[in-house]
Amino acid sequence: DRLYNVSKWSNGYFKIDESGKLKATPNPKKDVGILIDDVIEDAKEQGLSLPLVIRFHDILRSQVKLLNRTFQKVIDEEDYGGKFFGVYPVKVNQMREVVEEIVDAGSRYNYGLEAGSKPELLSALAYNTNIDSLTVLNGYKDRDYLRLAILGTKIGRKIFVVIEKFSELKMLVELSKEYGVIPNIGIRGRMTVKGRGKWESSGGEKAKFGLTTSEIILAIEYLKKHKKLGALKLFHFHIGSQITDIRSIKEAIEEGSRIYCKMQKIGAPLEYFDVGGGLGVDYDGTNSTNDSSINYSISDYITDIVYGLKTVCDLENVEHPHIITESGRAMTAHHSCVITNIIGEIDNTKIEFSTKKKTGEHHLVTEMRQVKDLLDKSKNWQEAYNDSVKIKSDSIHAFKLGILELEERAKIETLHLQILKQINNLVPDEDFQTEQIAELENSLSGQYLCNFSVFQSACDSWAIEQVLPVVPLTRLNERPSKRSTLADITCDSDGKIDRFYDPDEGFKKTLSVHELKEGEQYNIGIFLTGAYQDVMGDMHNLFGRVNEVHVYADKHDPKGFYIEETVPGSSARNVLSTMQYNPEYMAFKVKRSIDKQVARGTIRPRDGVSLVDFYESCLKSYTYLS
Ligand code: PLP
Repeated sequence: DRLYNVSKWSNGYFKIDESGKLKATPNPKKDVGILIDDVIEDAKEQGLSLPLVIRFHDILRSQVKLLNRTFQKVIDEEDYGGKFFGVYPVKVNQMREVVEEIVDAGSRYNYGLEAGSKPELLSALAYNTNIDSLTVLNGYKDRDYLRLAILGTKIGRKIFVVIEKFSELKMLVELSKEYGVIPNIGIRGRMTVKGRGKWESSGGEKAKFGLTTSEIILAIEYLKKHKKLGALKLFHFHIGSQITDIRSIKEAIEEGSRIYCKMQKIGAPLEYFDVGGGLGVDYDGTNSTNDSSINYSISDYITDIVYGLKTVCDLENVEHPHIITESGRAMTAHHSCVITNIIGEIDNTKIEFSTKKKTGEHHLVTEMRQVKDLLDKSKNWQEAYNDSVKIKSDSIHAFKLGILELEERAKIETLHLQILKQINNLVPDEDFQTEQIAELENSLSGQYLCNFSVFQSACDSWAIEQVLPVVPLTRLNERPSKRSTLADITCDSDGKIDRFYDPDEGFKKTLSVHELKEGEQYNIGIFLTGAYQDVMGDMHNLFGRVNEVHVYADKHDPKGFYIEETVPGSSARNVLSTMQYNPEYMAFKVKRSIDKQVARGTIRPRDGVSLVDFYESCLKSYTYLS
C-alpha cells in the first residue's frame, strides 16, 4: 500500500487485499470488495477486451451523498439560516449514464445540474426533472441558449441564467419581454482572488468571465430600469478548478460574501450564493499544495464556506443565503479507472553484443574498455562517467567522419551502457550522487508498453502533467524489482506516462513494477480518471473510445458485483466514419484490387475470399491491440 500510496489517494474506495490484488470498496465502511481482476474476467466473458474503462456507479452515488450530507451537517452545526442546493456541472463528465446516476442519487437532496453550453442545457432540460432541483446556466450565451432557458422556466424548472458578460443581460431582458417569462438571473463576479494551481487564471481580474464591480452596479440599475430586478436572485463566482490551497477558498468566500452583501444593500434581492467548482482531488495522495493535490478535506472545504459566509452576513446584517456549489471533479474523479495490459517491454540496456578486443581496433574502443575495467577497481564513479560520456561523444564524430566502423560504434555504445549500468548499481546512496549520476536511474530504466492511448484516456497527464495514480492490479504482496515508465501504443513519443509519486522517493519519472513473467498477463490500472479524462480524450491515431463496463456492488453476489451495462469501444469503422471515410466504399475498393490480382492469377480465389473477409472483419473490430 505504501509504495503506491493507495490509502492516501483512494478516499477509501480502493484497497489491496491479502492476496496482493487490488479491489474496489465502493462502500469504504464495509469491507466487501470487488476484485478488479474479477471485473476484467466478467468483461472478457461478455466480449470486451482490454483496454477497459470500469465505472463503479456506487462510488458516484457515494460522493454525491458525502457532499450533500456534509453540507447538511455543517449547516446544522453552525446554525446557518440557508439551505444547500448543489448542482453537478455536466461538462466534467457528460456521459448519459453518469449524469443519470448523479441525478438519481441526488434527487433526495434536490441536487441539480449545471450546464455551460446549448447541448449541455438540452441534456439538463431532459434529465434534471425534479422541480425542486436547480439548473444553473453558465458559459457564453446566444439567443437560442436564452430561449431554451425561457422554455425551461415555462415548464416549471428552477432555471438560473448566470450573466457572464453585460450584453447577455440585455438579450435576456429583451427575450423575456417577448415571451412574457423571465428565468432567475445570476451574476458572475470577477474576483480578485485566484485559485492556486493549474487553473488559477479562471479567477483574478483578467479572467475570461464575469462582471467587474462597476458592471455589477450597472446591471442592477439596468434591471431596475426595465422592472426586472426581482429576477436577480444569485451571485456566482468560480476561481478555478482543483484549488490546491484552502487559503484560496477562505479568501474567495471572504471577497464573494462581501460582494453578495453589498449587492443586497443596493437593492439586489439575492437569495443564492454560488461558489462555483474548485473542490479538488488528492491525485498524488500527498495532502499538500502540489498541483495534483489538495491540503484540505471535503469537510474543511464545506466548513470554510458555511462559516465564512455566515460570519460576513452576520457582520453586514444580511440574511444567510442558500448555498450552491458546482463541484464536478470531486464528484466524479474516483468512480472510473482505465485498465490496460502490458504488451511488451522496451529496454535498450539489455543488448547482448560482444565487446571482445580485436587486433587493430580503433583506439576509442580500447579506451572505453579501459574505463570499464578501471571502474571495477576504483570507486571514482564520476570520473568514469565523465570519461565514458566523452568517449561516446568522440566516437559519434569519428563515425561521421568515416574513421570508425559500424561494429566499433556498436561496441562503444554497448560498453558505455554497461558502464552506466554499473555506476547506477554501485553508487551507494543519494549522498554520493551528483545530479548526472542521480539521473541515471531514469535514463537507464526501461519502458512497459501499455495497450492504451494517453491522448484518449489520460489526456491531462500529457497536456498539463497531471499526476494520476497508477497501480499494478496483482502481485502487490511481492516487492517490485524494477522501475519503468509507461509508453502507450500511439505513434507519438509524447504518448507515455512518466510522472509518478512514490512516498519514499518523491516524484519520479518511473513507476515501481514487477518483472514480467512468461505467459502471465500483467495489468495496470490508471485511477481517478472519472473527471474530465473520461470525456476530453481525442482520436490520436484513430484509437477512439475504450470498451466500458458499468459495475454495481451486490452483497449477495459471490463476486460482490454485477455488470449492469457494457459499452463497446470504437470499432475501426466508427472512427473512420467520424473522419468522413465510407467504410463500405473502402471495403469495395480493397475487394476490387484483390479481385484484379485473382484475375491475374497472383492470388488464388480461395485466398482472395479470405483476404476480403479479413479486411472487413478488421473494419468491424476494436481499434486497440488484441
Ligand atoms: N463551474 C464552472 C463555472 C466551471 O468553470 C467549472 C470548471 O472549471 C466547474 C464548475 C467545475 O469545477 P470542478 O470540476 O473543479 O468542480
